[in-house]
Amino acid sequence: MSEDTPFSGFATRCIHAGQQPDPATGARITPIYQTTSYVFESAEHAANLFALKEFGNIYTRIMNPTQGALEAKVAALDGGTAALATASGHAAQMLALHCLMQPGDELVAARQLYGGSINQFSHSFKQFGWHVVWADADDPDSFRKALSEKTRAIFIESIANPSGQIVDIEAIAKVAQEAHVPLIVDNTMATPYLVRPFEHGANVVSYSLTKFMNGHGNSMGGMIVDGGNFDWGADDRFPLLTEPNPSYNGMKLYETFGDMTLAIAARVLGLRDLGPAIAPLNAFLTLTGLETLPLRMQRHCDNALRVAEWLEQDDRVAWVKYSGLKSSPYYELHQKYCPKGAGSVFTFGLKGGFGAGVKLVNSVKLFSHLANIGDVRSLIIHPASTTHSQLTEEQLVAAGAGPEVIRVSIGLEDPEDLIADLDQAMT
Ligand SMILES: *Cc1c(COP(=O)(O)O)cnc(C)c1O
Repeated sequence: MSEDTPFSGFATRCIHAGQQPDPATGARITPIYQTTSYVFESAEHAANLFALKEFGNIYTRIMNPTQGALEAKVAALDGGTAALATASGHAAQMLALHCLMQPGDELVAARQLYGGSINQFSHSFKQFGWHVVWADADDPDSFRKALSEKTRAIFIESIANPSGQIVDIEAIAKVAQEAHVPLIVDNTMATPYLVRPFEHGANVVSYSLTKFMNGHGNSMGGMIVDGGNFDWGADDRFPLLTEPNPSYNGMKLYETFGDMTLAIAARVLGLRDLGPAIAPLNAFLTLTGLETLPLRMQRHCDNALRVAEWLEQDDRVAWVKYSGLKSSPYYELHQKYCPKGAGSVFTFGLKGGFGAGVKLVNSVKLFSHLANIGDVRSLIIHPASTTHSQLTEEQLVAAGAGPEVIRVSIGLEDPEDLIADLDQAMT
């Protein structure tokens, strides 16, 4: 899709944005540029690339054409100014924050995050001297109360994993704006098909591409998308972006790169020095997955609603927490932020408790019992006997992973087959 294309519908962008026929060969599909490095045109060209006076390929740790097509596509889907692909969702979170946080700085984050993010923030980020202050995703005011002079970002998920609860992005964006700190939204569970966080006041979007964006459970990947809507120079809180950079001859990144500063800083500082680059093959597989994103996401959501409605009326089921159900306390937020669907990950409780949970995951035939989400295949896990098995019963309940809780990620199979599988496995 050329820059001046009149075709800008979401499905069209999923297929065409970021991808032209290969300039060298005419190949219609973006090739897997499986190379580590690129020949310079001249000594001057090489010098300009290294000094950031000119953009171009140097070394695949920093930039690669297959990765570049993926970045341009996701930036176009979210309405961002620029993007950076990374080796995983965790790498994207680390690199986004690495541009913003100095040792001793604070991050305010929703308590309702993916468990892996809670670990990353609480333990590994602590080693960088970054401190996390937790807030309650259901209570925008708790973010205001958690702010301090040292806060450098607010971090939330649009649809939280695993609870599936929908977060009031606009209310939390207002808190961020008033405090002049950027709002980072992890949009992994929603994808830009369901929620486009920049339209609700977010400044940065991060993804685990590993899940619905790729959609086929075959590669790890992450993405940072720059909303281009935050003034990094309003005060002295973001020195990496505003001060002269000693590793680029004293260049000031914000002055030079304007509304793409965060995405560029994450590449030329974070990715360059910390190194979690996405493999070209993974970028290629994710590009292919994104072509069908609207079709897949709609089917994921429609199937999830069918299965959730069936579970809700079944006698063996104590409760179902799915934001797409009219009984859900998040139903109104679902109608506001993602009326096309509430995603496909949700939890339910079995009346039979721990034993019934173990029996269910042991007896399914179509669902895969594993620790992932966002695959074309339906997935199931019993957190109390797996991911959360080290917790006490009290901690299990606090984490929303009580002994009776089952988490599912509903795939693209026929919903009748998914219901039949759960029915036989619960019997
Ligand atoms: C899986 C996940 C991540 C981490 O992504 P990886 O690609 O596994 O590193 C972050 N956020 C959410 C919501 C996730 O589901």
